[in-house]
Amino acid sequence: MTPCSTAAFVPQGAGVKASGGEPALLAVDGVTLQYPSGKDLVTATWRVSFDVHHMDRYILLGPSGCGKSSLLKAVGGFIRPTEGSIRLRNNLVQKPGPDRMMVFQEFDQLFPWLTVLGNVMFPMSARESWSLRDRRDRAISSIEKVGLTQFADSYPHQLSGGMKQRAAIARAMAMEPDVLLMDEPFAALDALTRRRLQDELLKLWDDLRFTMLFVTHGIDEATRVGSRILVLSPHPGQVRAELACPDDFDAGQRKVLEQQITEMLFESKETAHEH
Ligand code: ADP
Ligand code: MG
Repeated sequence: MTPCSTAAFVPQGAGVKASGGEPALLAVDGVTLQYPSGKDLVTATWRVSFDVHHMDRYILLGPSGCGKSSLLKAVGGFIRPTEGSIRLRNNLVQKPGPDRMMVFQEFDQLFPWLTVLGNVMFPMSARESWSLRDRRDRAISSIEKVGLTQFADSYPHQLSGGMKQRAAIARAMAMEPDVLLMDEPFAALDALTRRRLQDELLKLWDDLRFTMLFVTHGIDEATRVGSRILVLSPHPGQVRAELACPDDFDAGQRKVLEQQITEMLFESKETAHEH
């Protein structure tokens, strides 16, 4: 077997687009993101392109400051590209919507004064067409899917870290989003807990097959969690490559991939240029 044979190397500033095949669920095309800074502009990403397909575990990987969070916020509709476009199901993303749910770091976004059921139902008021009965049924079903039925009436402080993660994901999934956005959800955790939650996330994905866009700066996390990895150069973030990380990769193949990514990120330090 030849590990990483699916790796596609692309020049800086270019994007990664499959030709032909099914249309992308999420299409990011030539996206430049900039922030005002005094009289100047800070360029967070430069002409980044990529496609996310249904059931992808798509990773945005790059060093701190390369614009990963900015890209996720742009997909979330919280900030607008200065150049390029983001389309979900071929509709231009212009504002936040329940079709893109963000799961935040450490899952401490659960309200401590609400039960698991209360937490999962909370954002559903955004779904005006759903009746109260409907919302409750969907929440119960989502809680069941993540295996928390017995804890529906428990409060967050009564849950383990893994259960909080499942509750946070149940809440996001109950909204029936097209894509789950996760920004370094495990960054603040110790290595052992991180590993356990990564495994739990993968198990959940195995059961539910959702689409996720997952940001990390950890190479090992990228190869563990991801099915495809977009490697970004340091500030301003540009696409270095998109790499496939098939589920049947063994430990040795993952190591080779990680080595390849390490070299790529190291190399990009020397060739990156400012805009
Ligand atoms: P990452 O998530 O990869 O660490 P970010 O998207 O947070 O990167 O930031 C990318 C660049 O954009 C950084 O140089 C950062 O300082 C800048 N930046 C991010 N958010 C803002 C903001 N609200 N205002 C100004 N500059 C910002
Ligand atoms: Mg970030």
